[in-house]
Amino acid sequence: HYGAVLRQREELDRLANTDALTSVANRRSFMEHAQHEINRAERSGQPLSLMMLDIDRFKTINDSFGHAAGDRAITAFAQVCQLNLRNFDWLSRLGGDEFAVLLPDTTKEQAELVAQRIRESVETCNTLNHQDKRIPMTTSIGLAGLQGTACNVEALMAQADAALYQAKQQGRNRVVCA
Ligand code: GH3
Ligand code: MG
Repeated sequence: HYGAVLRQREELDRLANTDALTSVANRRSFMEHAQHEINRAERSGQPLSLMMLDIDRFKTINDSFGHAAGDRAITAFAQVCQLNLRNFDWLSRLGGDEFAVLLPDTTKEQAELVAQRIRESVETCNTLNHQDKRIPMTTSIGLAGLQGTACNVEALMAQADAALYQAKQQGRNRVVCA
């Protein structure tokens, strides 16, 4: 009986930390994990990078193909990201069409290569369809890095967010480094 209670508890913990649509980590879980990783990077002097991703003109996908297709786009997007990441990179859906990735032991230059790879994979993704027609999708990505400097999650996210905003301003479907 005690084992069953424990398993139930683990399942509840898992659900509380997971985004229901994509099965990746949710914002709450990301914030906890991110601060932990930042502290670890500060102690070890290892680099750490943060990527913020947002689907371009996602509202158009919803409006043209319907909300269900929009949901499938978000799910396909998460899968494409995951395929281009290592298993210790931390992908999370922050909400809506916005995602974040924490890349431990990764310099901003290395993270930029990963970001470009994700950007291209999203653009060329052909698993997303509506009535046998391919739904086009692109993403903008903002990057920020931390190396051996004291920083908190909020500050690092604000930097990556500002870079993402620039990527949108500069015409979308691009990567900008803070
Ligand atoms: P931008 O290129 O500037 O990012 O434009 P955008 O249209 O992607 O930006 P905006 O943030 O205005 O639109 C996001 C839309 O995503 C608004 C909201 O209706 C929709 N949305 C949020 N969550 C979900 C969801 O879970 N499923 C679906 N299908 N749509 C969602
Ligand atoms: Mg968007």
